[in-house]
Amino acid sequence: MLIVNCSLLIAQNRLDVIVLDAGHGGKDPGTIGDGTGVQEKNIVLPITMKLGKMIETRYPGIKIIYPRSTDEYVEVKERTHIANVNKAKLFISIHANHKKKEESDKNGFEIYLLNKERFPEAVMFTMKENFLLSYQQAGKDTVDNFIYSSLAQNGYTRFNEYLASMIELNFLSYAELASRGVIQAGNWVTLGASMPSVLVETGYLSDPNDEKYLSSEKGQNDVATSLFNAFLSYKTLYEMQ
Ligand SMILES: [Zn+2]
Repeated sequence: MLIVNCSLLIAQNRLDVIVLDAGHGGKDPGTIGDGTGVQEKNIVLPITMKLGKMIETRYPGIKIIYPRSTDEYVEVKERTHIANVNKAKLFISIHANHKKKEESDKNGFEIYLLNKERFPEAVMFTMKENFLLSYQQAGKDTVDNFIYSSLAQNGYTRFNEYLASMIELNFLSYAELASRGVIQAGNWVTLGASMPSVLVETGYLSDPNDEKYLSSEKGQNDVATSLFNAFLSYKTLYEMQ
């Protein structure tokens, strides 16, 4: 009995399902590069697939879910829903940025965390999504899940923060991009995700250097490698808990 419990405990802490989310796609090109007109959706997809390939090669047992693996349109809400349904343990959304018209020139990467303590409406949104999901799956009132979900949100913060710091560190080591830091915000892409999640803006397509670098095979490989190394550190921490 004790052994069963132990193995259950270990199984819970295995990073066995992850979602790699390439932003935009299909009718939604995302942002457009100023120099070459390259579309964000066509930059983030190869980066995402390269990252997935690296993880798959090292850990064939990990189930990797791609909300899109081709040039197709997937609703933002659907992406986090897919993650929740599959009980993913990690959600990484990959994007590229563009400065606003009124802003002066910007370059570099940014890592966005959804701070659920600072943005309590995000907790309510995720709880509602989780509650409906549990209700649909179990077909009964799942108040326990509802409560568990709210407790779990608080525990994610330190995982999110660790992942973000590892991403920043590895970008600085492997990618030729400046750091604009980790930003805690109420980002809407990862809003419904009921697991640790992060959104990476890999660079600014309004900046000629970032645009050229992110459009290149080398740039995309460097970014995927940075994310992969961050993932390795994260996996170690996650599975130690
Ligand atoms: Zn985007």
